[in-house]
Amino acid sequence: MTPIRLALVGLGKIARDQHLPAIAADPRFELVAIVSRNADLDGVAHFTDLTALLASDVMVDAVALCTPPQPRHALAHMALAAGKHVMLEKPPGATLSEVEDLRQTAAARSLTLQATWHSRFATGVEPARAWLAERTVRAVRINWKEDVRVWHPGQDWIWEAGGLGVFDPAINALSIVTRILPLPFFLSRGVLHVPENRQSPIQAELDFRDAGGAPIRAELDFLQTGPQSWDIEVDTDGGALKLTNGGAKLWIDGQLMHEGPDREYPGLYDEFARLIADGASDVDVAPLRHVADAFLLSERVVAPPFIE
Ligand code: NAP
Repeated sequence: MTPIRLALVGLGKIARDQHLPAIAADPRFELVAIVSRNADLDGVAHFTDLTALLASDVMVDAVALCTPPQPRHALAHMALAAGKHVMLEKPPGATLSEVEDLRQTAAARSLTLQATWHSRFATGVEPARAWLAERTVRAVRINWKEDVRVWHPGQDWIWEAGGLGVFDPAINALSIVTRILPLPFFLSRGVLHVPENRQSPIQAELDFRDAGGAPIRAELDFLQTGPQSWDIEVDTDGGALKLTNGGAKLWIDGQLMHEGPDREYPGLYDEFARLIADGASDVDVAPLRHVADAFLLSERVVAPPFIE
């Protein structure tokens, strides 16, 4: 078996915490290059921009883009134009239109494009989907509350236009609910709290309804100190389901039914290898579309300045 020669673009927090270990543990991939303006890795070819890598004699089959969303489209387009398969970190782009452009470009060139949603690989998510498929949803509550100072120190891009603010983590919740809920759902009302010195929301409250009329309430907070919440509760006609720890634990009527080791990024690379082998792509924009809807429809409230 010839490994897929992979280049990783953007050597920041997620690349170091998750991508490098997942790649190292998967024999179907060989890390052949790092593209980073500031950082390199012992024993791996290093380039300060993607153009230089693509012009070099380093042979690359696929590229994993681990940058913030704002520069993602230009990088992905460049890689696809050079005939490389592309993995996109979440969110897959800064706008829906640019992701659609990438989808079409990949299809036209018979290349694999993978819009990753790592939280969908959390242990409880697929069992939750199967359990809910046989029940009627009555109500959903999403609580996604974390301390931005702990989880995103120094990440100024999160606060810039296109950085999504509190939706950077909350899109993970949306990636889970778009996967597990049996019916589509639609935003009816939202409030975004935007610090007066920033471009992106620090808190949000969203009210959706699913196609059967069930209310879905999402409370998102980037200022949560103390215990952090990455929880989704679903009331149904046949009991109450709860996903906690970002989907890692599944509870039914208060009983823990599923938990397991963190396999989210190994799962993503497994899927990437399969997609490449099958000549397929996976580009589901549903979570990003709900974020776009929130930015389209919500009221805006000016919040106190955010000082790191
Ligand atoms: P980060 O720590 O700020 O790293 C991003 C890296 O991208 C930087 O190290 C930078 O590397 C590179 N980069 C290229 N163009 C950039 C630009 N215009 N502005 C800023 N950086 C640029 O961010 P991260 O937490 O790894 O997040 C990256 C992506 O992964 C985001 O889309 C995020 O939503 C997603 N993600 C993050 C987490 C997490 O827990 N942090 C979890 C899952 C997914 P160089 O300066 O070396 O070029």
